[in-house]
Amino acid sequence: MKLEGKVALVTGASRGIGRAIAEELAAEGAAVIINYNGSREAAEEVAAKIQEAGGKASVIQCSVADPEAVEAMMKQIVSEYKRLDILVNNAGITKDNLILKMKEEEFEAVLDTNLKGVFHTSKHAARQMLRQKAGSIVNISSISGVMGNAGQTNYAASKAGVIGFTKSLARELASREIRVNAVAPGFIETDMTEKLPESAAEAGKSQVPFGRFGKAQEVAKAVCFLASADASYITGQVLHVDGGMGM
Ligand code: NAP
Repeated sequence: MKLEGKVALVTGASRGIGRAIAEELAAEGAAVIINYNGSREAAEEVAAKIQEAGGKASVIQCSVADPEAVEAMMKQIVSEYKRLDILVNNAGITKDNLILKMKEEEFEAVLDTNLKGVFHTSKHAARQMLRQKAGSIVNISSISGVMGNAGQTNYAASKAGVIGFTKSLARELASREIRVNAVAPGFIETDMTEKLPESAAEAGKSQVPFGRFGKAQEVAKAVCFLASADASYITGQVLHVDGGMGM
């Protein structure tokens, strides 16, 4: 197993892509901390499934948008586990609207969770990883942050921000070989894409050279690779997992 003895925090791991990432990291031997915001039962179910399969998992509630709550979460993790080897910044939301209808609160809420959330967790993780002189951070961006998407000025700005953040932090931490990378998924089958109107889903599919949406597990495999020593000479990169959409 690739990640035996490692401790991993996955934000927003109660559902969708985060859940698949938590399961994949645990299957590779990591002790996984499953962060959630509101879906307690779902998060506990993920942990139970991992434990039933012989893996290690615990759950922790915290909104990544709340800097004080994140500080408390990170302190608790370091005090319980004594280390943090892998941080996957996956928690994310959408509040789509065309620019003329986009409310201030919609723009702010998306930036607060998707971009500032990454800053909050990474700041504390970086401190611990610098102490350990080892660690890997994987940020979940999006094809929207690379190509843009009508109706998603807030979301695309947050996800493009995550890419700039990733490259800057990768440069800051490179001297200690702490790696920071991003994954940019295309359309993936989760609750987030389930919300799309039929016409938008069909239009989305038509832009994908593979002609289909991806599966959460397909993103999880890429994250697991970047988090592991298999990617030991890779930092500051954005790996597209999008069926060719962004090439
Ligand atoms: P999802 O099914 O809607 O799940 C979102 C997850 O984020 C849930 O676990 C949710 O926790 C958590 N979350 C939301 N706000 C949070 C907060 N403030 N603090 C902590 N956790 C929070 O979404 P998904 O499709 O799996 O997306 C996961 C990531 O991939 C997101 O960053 C998304 O932008 C990105 N992405 C998705 C797609 C796609 O097509 N699905 C494509 C590109 C990128 P609760 O359930 O507890 O609220």
